[in-house]
Amino acid sequence: MIIAIDGPAASGKGTLGKRLAEHFGLSHLDTGLLYRAVAKAVLDAGRELSDRDYAAQAATRIDPKHFSAALKSHAIGEAASVVSAYPAVRDALFKLQQDFAATPPGAVLDGRDIGTVICPQADVKIFVTASPEARARRRYLELCGQGQDVTETAILDDILRRDERDRSRAVAPLIAADDATMLDTTHLDVEAAFAAALKLVEQRVSPRG
Ligand code: C5P
Repeated sequence: MIIAIDGPAASGKGTLGKRLAEHFGLSHLDTGLLYRAVAKAVLDAGRELSDRDYAAQAATRIDPKHFSAALKSHAIGEAASVVSAYPAVRDALFKLQQDFAATPPGAVLDGRDIGTVICPQADVKIFVTASPEARARRRYLELCGQGQDVTETAILDDILRRDERDRSRAVAPLIAADDATMLDTTHLDVEAAFAAALKLVEQRVSPRG
């Protein structure tokens, strides 16, 4: 079984992906980490984020086995949304994601283009949304918990800018697949969101056994 979860920044898709994967005994890939790793490799090499060629080369060397906690920083998330707009970066990461999804026993992948580009054949597609304010609040609390020095207003601004960048890019923009089910988590806590997602998956897969 392949479950595709897409949605904007801080919508809760990562937590849902992890929980669904645990529940169904599937592998989980947070594809945002791939783009974050590319951005970090560019910055670590002292290059500009506008260096498309370097970013594309870095994308060919990405290995999810060596991801570090540093990828989760707010700044790297911002940088990731710049390099993720480069077609050559997306091309370089395409096969890795498809291979991951195709490996038994199946997988949950979360990102922006899983249901539309990476796994259009997914058994279940969920598009997770939440209001920008709810997402900013969640991300603020998460980053404060990690000891990062951030303000909620700045995070809201960044989220709105990142949404716009991810939605308006020419390649693989953030958009719900036609056959995705929408899940609005604005008023749901983690447990309620998981229960709602689980119900969606069971409704989708049970008629086919
Ligand atoms: O999900 P996360 O916030 O970690 O993603 C970081 C950035 O990576 C996103 O803002 C988006 O630009 C990019 N991304 C993408 N396609 C994916 C996953 C993430 O373009 N499948």
